Amino acid sequence: MGKDKKLTTRSDDYNQWYLDVIQAARLADHSPVKGCMVIRPNGYALWEKIQRALDDMFKETGHVNAYFPLLIPESFLKKEAEHVEGFAPECAVVTHGGGQKLEEPLVIRPTSETIIWAMYRKWIESHRDLPILINQWANVVRWEMRTRLFLRTTEFLWQEGHTAHATSEESEEETLRMLEVYRRFAEDFMAMPVIPGIKTEREKFAGAVRTYSIEGMMQDGRALQAGTSHNLGQNFAKAFDVTFQDEQGQRQFVWATSWGVSTRLIGAIIMTHSDDKGLILPPRLAATKATIIPIMGKKADPEVVLGEARKLAEESGLGREIDIDDRANVSPGWKYNDWEQRGVPLRIELGPRDIENKQAVIVRRDTGEKQFVPRDKLPAVLKETLEQMQKDMFARALAHREENTYPVEDEAEFRAKLEDPGGFLMAHHCGERECEERIQAETKATIRCIPLDAKQENGTCPFCGKASDKRVIFAKAY
Ligand SMILES: [Zn+2]
Repeated sequence: MGKDKKLTTRSDDYNQWYLDVIQAARLADHSPVKGCMVIRPNGYALWEKIQRALDDMFKETGHVNAYFPLLIPESFLKKEAEHVEGFAPECAVVTHGGGQKLEEPLVIRPTSETIIWAMYRKWIESHRDLPILINQWANVVRWEMRTRLFLRTTEFLWQEGHTAHATSEESEEETLRMLEVYRRFAEDFMAMPVIPGIKTEREKFAGAVRTYSIEGMMQDGRALQAGTSHNLGQNFAKAFDVTFQDEQGQRQFVWATSWGVSTRLIGAIIMTHSDDKGLILPPRLAATKATIIPIMGKKADPEVVLGEARKLAEESGLGREIDIDDRANVSPGWKYNDWEQRGVPLRIELGPRDIENKQAVIVRRDTGEKQFVPRDKLPAVLKETLEQMQKDMFARALAHREENTYPVEDEAEFRAKLEDPGGFLMAHHCGERECEERIQAETKATIRCIPLDAKQENGTCPFCGKASDKRVIFAKAY
């Protein structure tokens, strides 16, 4: 996009701004197949950062990685009644292979519970085989009608954890443990505050007993579900006849969980932090943390300035995470703009006068704040500034969420506030599915979750007047 093409501003058109940011930062592109997405190197570098941090957290909590096939016999999907009802409408089905019609059609996985539980049947015999704590990094396909880069695409990348346990208590503990892993990742790495909570019956995963989620608020006040963790009870064990012999020699059905996050998180990062100039990446997830822009004055010897830039990169302590923009055919101003659009946290300007004064200029991407730093202090200042920026980004996002979260008491207030200013509406709800459906049909708001820390409080549902004992979060959502 470069200097000449300005992004659509957020106040003009938030949706177009979102697409402009992706294009300008060269994160992804539309593929020739409608609804699919090409993840470009800048976007994939961000996904790799997400993967690495999460994978460490999964391993620290005892999980191992495995890989299950992309193709699932269609009959598998039909074994769990709610699961097939939930997923059948969005499945892509392979009917031919090698020029022949297949005897049984194969579904391209929309999620892998069925094939994994078919395998767990072979692997689980006794209580000594439990727990199984497996994660897989994979792609899945869900045939979506309305797609948007990163947020909702026909094929997307994700991780899916699938665990098997001997008791109901253990599976509930695991479900909540992984919800907490997701909360920590969102807040500590993405700098995105989230509300952990439980989904209503209507919003839960097809085949789960209980679904938990973390919900973030985007800059436009809409909610984004950033991760889910499901307690599957014994539903899949029963559908696939997976039992184990307990310590008393009794056969029991196995207890299950599954949990996942996807490339949707990249959309969440964009919409939590970025501005009208382009992407802003939280430092901990930026593959390039700083870029040096050498400034060649009229009298400067380019080789001297570049030589100093290379020395500065070496001294910086950032290893491969610092870049030197040595393109000779574009001006420093053009480069500033380009790196701002790409969201790199820090820009370091280095010109002949800086070299003379043994200093460099650091500019923060999020605030535009400039610092003149003596060269010998640079590694320490870079480290501190990146940490401070990470903290400030979280604090700004949290303040935004708090400013846009408020209690509402009756239907008129609900409808008015939802349209202006929008955000998270904390309202009572009767807990009934028909009422929830009616609210969505009439207002487009859904119950995002019942926060885990919701206080007991007597009230009435603003729509039907029935009694309620806690507030839930209503919002329009991505
Ligand atoms: Zn109601």
